[in-house]
Amino acid sequence: MQKIQLKRERIYQGSLILVNSLYEYRERRGIRLFPASDEAKEILMEEEAVQMLHRAMMDINGWKDIVPVSGWRSRMEQQRIWDDSLAENGLEFTKTYVAVPGHSEHQTGLAIDLGLKQEKIDFIRPDFPYKGICQTFRERAVEYGFIERYPKNKEAVTGIGHEPWHFRYVGVPHAQIMKQERLTLEEYIVFLKSHQYGIRPYIFEEQGCRATVSYIEAEGNVTTPELETYNPKTDTISGNNVDGFIVTSWKDEEHRNGGKYERKDK
Ligand SMILES: [Zn+2]
Repeated sequence: MQKIQLKRERIYQGSLILVNSLYEYRERRGIRLFPASDEAKEILMEEEAVQMLHRAMMDINGWKDIVPVSGWRSRMEQQRIWDDSLAENGLEFTKTYVAVPGHSEHQTGLAIDLGLKQEKIDFIRPDFPYKGICQTFRERAVEYGFIERYPKNKEAVTGIGHEPWHFRYVGVPHAQIMKQERLTLEEYIVFLKSHQYGIRPYIFEEQGCRATVSYIEAEGNVTTPELETYNPKTDTISGNNVDGFIVTSWKDEEHRNGGKYERKDK
């Protein structure tokens, strides 16, 4: 146990950052990127996300039939995709399926577009049906921290059209909680505000794993709320990219991140 201070700039980092038309992604140095799969070396994702993706794919033998289509993008690349789509498909389509540069989840390294392996793959809207191996991935990947980020009937909440191919790494147990509670990331960030740290944490329990999830508001500009009982072995902290932090505390060390991801920073 130790006492730590949370610096305000840290609200822009972590697997739970909300990036959408309202909340811009703040680019930062030091994000470590790795190939999404052995076959697609040019498609990159952030370190923890890529490890969890590998595990999910290994679990279902997914790389046999699924290909990564688009992963991390620089702001410049997002701009180019926006400009190309605008010229080719017009403003309505582009606004529906392409995020405004600076506001794309792809810039975080936490998002991946996946497609069913076939001869012709549409770069902006790859085929990823609700059946077969694609559906198996969709269901199982939740255990590894991935959510289908832009579901049908939530377009008004996410601001993005239904995208069956776009997955976002939020980490465990967050993906499971979001699935159980039927929440998009926008809704989850709001939901957690009623689960204040030290007062009313959300309790997640599944198959002997137990974790609490709670929210800490960042106060003021130089904010440094103190976390009295931080345990680096069982706790993780993520910013929400809006106004605060989300603290996840596992009961046992081996359950941290569902026991599925071995951190190298220990
Ligand atoms: Zn995408």
